[in-house]
Amino acid sequence: MATAATTTAACRNFIGGKWVESKATQFFERRNPASTDEIVARIPLSTREEMRAAIAAAKAAFPAWHDTPAPDRGKLLFRTAQIMEGEIDSLARLLTREEGKALADSIVEAQRSVNILQFVAGEARRLNGESFPSEARKNFSYTIKMPLGVVGAITPWNFPLAIPVWKIAPALIAGNTCVLKPAEFTPLCAIRVAEILAEAGLPAGVLNVVFGAGEEVGDELVQHPDVRAISFTGSTEIGSQIYAAGARGMKKVQCEMGGKNPVVILADADLPVASASVATGAFGSTGQRCTATSRVIIEEKIADEFVKMLAERAGNFRIGNGLDANIEMGPSVDEGQMNTVLKYIEIGKQDGKLICGGHRLTGGAFDKGYFIAPAIFDHVPIQSRIAQEEIFGPVVSVIRVKHFEEALEAANFCRYGLSSSIYTNDPARMFEFIDRIETGITHVNASTIRSEAHLPFGGIKDTGVGAREIGHAGLDFYTELKAVYIDYTGRKRESSVQ
Ligand code: NAD
Repeated sequence: MATAATTTAACRNFIGGKWVESKATQFFERRNPASTDEIVARIPLSTREEMRAAIAAAKAAFPAWHDTPAPDRGKLLFRTAQIMEGEIDSLARLLTREEGKALADSIVEAQRSVNILQFVAGEARRLNGESFPSEARKNFSYTIKMPLGVVGAITPWNFPLAIPVWKIAPALIAGNTCVLKPAEFTPLCAIRVAEILAEAGLPAGVLNVVFGAGEEVGDELVQHPDVRAISFTGSTEIGSQIYAAGARGMKKVQCEMGGKNPVVILADADLPVASASVATGAFGSTGQRCTATSRVIIEEKIADEFVKMLAERAGNFRIGNGLDANIEMGPSVDEGQMNTVLKYIEIGKQDGKLICGGHRLTGGAFDKGYFIAPAIFDHVPIQSRIAQEEIFGPVVSVIRVKHFEEALEAANFCRYGLSSSIYTNDPARMFEFIDRIETGITHVNASTIRSEAHLPFGGIKDTGVGAREIGHAGLDFYTELKAVYIDYTGRKRESSVQ
């Protein structure tokens, strides 16, 4: 597989259909977080001028791309999906090397990216508006969906393949051109996405990619007057700044941000199923998912048994370099993130009872990476910091409650509202939970982490603002509606309707 980055050369920006060497004077070296003696990429901290060049290229490419019939844009995305499907394994390995997650999780992410491309490609033939009966005689009223122009996509490192795809694909299918600013840690997946789109026949300038620091090239993308919309995924701290800056520029903005996802377990739940899927939700991908399970709210009469089962599973989680067969959990993404998690473990010890894990793993191959043993805290008060703040590590807090109402109240006692789940066999409780839980995604008897390629994805409260991503809602973000009135009376009307 040819990529525009090698282990030594710096990644190049993709501007106007060409891979261009950055004029950056500063570079960021990315190492494999499971094996830090391996350099995976050198990322240029590109200049604002380079971002402006990318925006100009996207602007220049817009008229022709807008004029391209939507079904032709769809064919291009189908070709993209086909190429990507043919290289799921190599893409997954690339992803694991730069981000660290277990290969099995990377394969799921690559497949999900293909699924999203296929769904969006099919939507090219359904970019229809509506027609309406008119108030006036001999008048035809209808709506059409218009692209916005140049849109900016700003993405995090934790889903370096799927998130760029789920922003770029609907943006392009709707007739927009795009500039992507990927996370600093994970340039290689973004490069491969752009290369595959180019191989599939994407015209020059329709997608551009600029690497660099968020506060420089990311900010330029957000502030630039020629950028009509920003789709951001990342932390709530940065998202709220981007939302405010976008509003000042009268841009459309969507921000998908942090999570602190609760699982409610009632006394009638199937505990082996619940404990196994809480373990996957909390420790899988090293807890570095926006949908990771981080709070278990459980009826106290079954809590001891549940915690025992969960601790047993945490103890046998297979941890190591995600490229090794059978590994279930890789490292934290970098040293800073690992230290953040370790800091939260210390904070947690003051509020709850540490049942297991929470220490850095050392010895042998562990010494080369940022590995932490999965941690479980029990008897955690709902208002404590580990129960309220996003940790982004393999840490789960168990909160004991007396009954369903208290569980629901505890689950909703949080600034975030992304995903949630309930384990019970009582249909009345299931529906009550679905009605009242304050999250954008909810599951019954399943982990908080699953989502599909054609359902809306995103959260409420401090997790999400603006339109949902993925599915039809995701596509709507990238279009404006135009209302059209066609008068075929052939004369001036006597009144507005006659
Ligand atoms: P982050 O907010 O630090 O960075 C995200 C992106 O924003 C990066 O590309 C970064 O360079 C850029 N950026 C930073 N400052 C900027 C600025 N001033 N202007 C413009 N761009 C700027 O987030 P992260 O650490 O990369 O990702 C982890 C976070 O993402 C977690 O909080 C996680 O919950 C969240 N996330 C949310 C979802 C969701 O759909 N809700 C999905 C995945 C990740």
